[in-house]
Amino acid sequence: MREKIKIIPAGISPAGKIFEARSATCPLCDSSKIMPLYEIIKYEPGFSVDRCTGCGFIFMNPRFKKSVLAKFYGDNYYTGNEGYTYFDERDAEKFAMHVWRKRIEKIHDKVKAGSFLDVGCAFGGFLKAAQKYYTPYGIELSEYSWVVAKSIYGNNIHLGTLEDHPFHEESFSVITMIELIEHLPDPLSAVKECYRLLKPGGLLLIQTANMDGLQARLQGGTYSYYMPGHLSYLSKKNIRMILGKCGFKKILFYHPVDFGLFPKLMKSRYGFKTLFDYSAWIRITLYHLAGKIRLGNFSATSSLVTYGIK
Ligand SMILES: [Zn+2]
Repeated sequence: MREKIKIIPAGISPAGKIFEARSATCPLCDSSKIMPLYEIIKYEPGFSVDRCTGCGFIFMNPRFKKSVLAKFYGDNYYTGNEGYTYFDERDAEKFAMHVWRKRIEKIHDKVKAGSFLDVGCAFGGFLKAAQKYYTPYGIELSEYSWVVAKSIYGNNIHLGTLEDHPFHEESFSVITMIELIEHLPDPLSAVKECYRLLKPGGLLLIQTANMDGLQARLQGGTYSYYMPGHLSYLSKKNIRMILGKCGFKKILFYHPVDFGLFPKLMKSRYGFKTLFDYSAWIRITLYHLAGKIRLGNFSATSSLVTYGIK
């Protein structure tokens, strides 16, 4: 947990000004059987999440207004100045490259060449690894990171979303959404659009937390995935349902991720300053191994990567 996070009582935010109207139905299956699940109060502003008793989908309800969400993707989001930010991948790029290269090899086992679209490509780091086999394309919502990605890949990088891009039907062999789908209000429409953009035999990669994992269940409302930019919290069952509805022929799940422990350890070295920092490897190793514990739909951690083949 970062120091900047304020602990505030729930409901202190001026709700009408920053939230949309509350949804009475599940955005995934349209069921009206939705129940309040958690009040997430460790951020300012705080927010609520509901759970659909029909399909199990967890979602922010009411959602922040678009104008509020837009503020989450400014420069502070990427430079580490917000409580809920990601690290700035440009500093960490040579460490993250260990993971990116392994992931590209795994994808290459399934799809050999073609155009490669990274949705939510940020500064375009992952696309550098993808260039080994594929022609890189990206979609990025944040102008701050889009400017950097565009300086590398030119017009192949679209500033915007899956709803307003210029790309043509069946033009991509691979599409990746890494830690992206949880930011979207309508995951089903997003996956439908990816399906439309993929060539037959093309691959869609989705990485997001599995909310059915024991980790998410045990940690409840304190689970770190609950943060203001995250609107949609999917389970493995939800992901299978979405990909099936969209028409994907084959679905592959990787627990905990689609690469091994070693690249993960190498990536974690970013920010290590002393020998003591390497003790984090014990925690990371145990987490990785725990991620392999599963039985049917049960899994010990919430780490999950899904490949859908069209
Ligand atoms: Zn539902």
